[in-house]
Amino acid sequence: MSTIFSQIVEGEIPARIVYEDETTVAFLDANPLAPGHTLVIPKDEYERVNDVPEDIATDLYATIHRMVPAVEDAVDADATTVAFNNGEAAGQEVPHVHCHIVPRFEDDDDGPIHAMFGQRPDLADDELDDVAADIESRA
Ligand code: 5GP
Repeated sequence: MSTIFSQIVEGEIPARIVYEDETTVAFLDANPLAPGHTLVIPKDEYERVNDVPEDIATDLYATIHRMVPAVEDAVDADATTVAFNNGEAAGQEVPHVHCHIVPRFEDDDDGPIHAMFGQRPDLADDELDDVAADIESRA
């Protein structure tokens, strides 16, 4: 079964599409966190960031790069939070990778992404060294 976002790509359900090219599309979020909240997706269905092939990932970033200033200028935002909820445990509800571009304003009081994380781990230097080495070996 195709995702709700594939149905938008296919024109089967309506959306306020603000940009489209061969491989990507951007449209307004139906439940915006701020005016101008925009989603950028690959047209083909990939669930997570790491499922997207490199060439499509390049196209996706190009569309994000294009849309950030367009969104900011359109709603006179001071900044944007640009983020992926990557996987269900991270809050991803639609299993079709999408980048949120959420306009931000000096007085919006919503805080940085860091504000989502209540408990921060207290990691010793050797634990940080171990995890850094582990990540580096897989990169
Ligand atoms: P997630 O939690 O998966 O990162 O975000 C999914 C986003 O998709 C939510 O912000 C939600 O408002 C938006 N959304 C869900 N269904 C639709 C829809 O049918 N149309 C549009 N335009 N946005 C949707």
